[in-house]
Amino acid sequence: MLLPKTNRLTPDQLAEVTAVVTEFGCKIQPIVGAVRTIYAIVGDERDELMINRLEGLDYIDRIDRIQSPFKLMDRRSDLASGRLKVGGVTVGEELLVIAGPCTIDPKNANYFLETAAAVKEAGAQALRGGVWKPRTNPYSFQGDTRSLEILMEASRRTGLPAVTEVMEQEHINLALDAGVSVLQIGARNALNYSLLRQVGRAIAGRDTAVLLKRSIHMGPLNEFISAAEYIVSFGNPNVILCPRGTSPAPDGYRNHPDESITPLLKEKTWAAVVVDPSHSVGKASYVPACALAAVAYGADGLCLEAHVSPSHGIGDDPKQAVTPPVLAGIVAQARALHASLRRTQPAS
Ligand code: PEP
Ligand code: MN
Repeated sequence: MLLPKTNRLTPDQLAEVTAVVTEFGCKIQPIVGAVRTIYAIVGDERDELMINRLEGLDYIDRIDRIQSPFKLMDRRSDLASGRLKVGGVTVGEELLVIAGPCTIDPKNANYFLETAAAVKEAGAQALRGGVWKPRTNPYSFQGDTRSLEILMEASRRTGLPAVTEVMEQEHINLALDAGVSVLQIGARNALNYSLLRQVGRAIAGRDTAVLLKRSIHMGPLNEFISAAEYIVSFGNPNVILCPRGTSPAPDGYRNHPDESITPLLKEKTWAAVVVDPSHSVGKASYVPACALAAVAYGADGLCLEAHVSPSHGIGDDPKQAVTPPVLAGIVAQARALHASLRRTQPAS
């Protein structure tokens, strides 16, 4: 990783360093951080002669050679100084609450529009809603592109940035064109490397963020973080890690709640951790405890399924969506806990 003395390299300087690394079979990938741009050396960056030549350039501050399987996501990376903003919230400073139905029902747009207003009232700062749905059963409702308009109408009315899952290039293009702020990569696609690459490429040079869920089957944490590295390696560092429960689950829960990995993720990476208690436990009555546990473990935010009338919802909503009054209670308690933890254990 190449760190210039200034906030970014001039085009001539970039051309010069590119020429040097190309001689050694490497490439330069600029990663645009909030404060400054850093330059990842992609390829085998161990050649001492290449390093010496780069270090000899008078506009280069230093070369970081982090020995890590994920050198951009690594806590020691220069990207750790960046701050992600979603819907006016500086993630890490204030608890980020994303809420909304699992699935937008295109035949009953009012439920979504009413829920959007109600989650805002309850304290959410971003609005989730599934347009395209990854369903276990091929005969279940798979989502509907018409729901994208409903999502964006609700986002406009409330001023809340929209969060929705994408599963293929066409979804990515449609979502970005419509103005979706956060693309979700779901648990079923969390290790779909071609999708991770497509998303990384599509958001490079934009403000868009990605909510990357953990894969369903319990894998090593490095695998989860490396999936995020795929996205960030295209140049946009706005990635959020989202534990959402893993399989197998204890009887009674939908998944094995995994909010307890939050401090482990934070030790390894600089990324924000936003926990999804709804898919972790899979039942509305268990969601508040799981949400508070996540905050106690140091989560930077929560992603919750909520609906004004869960029994009239589709997808996961009848089982696991909380109502707006319950959401308001969770948000108030979670914010108080988050603030009190920050007073006693300030973020590093
Ligand atoms: C969802 O957010 O509705 C969803 C399908 O999430 P996950 O990928 O975590 O199952
Ligand atoms: Mn869901």
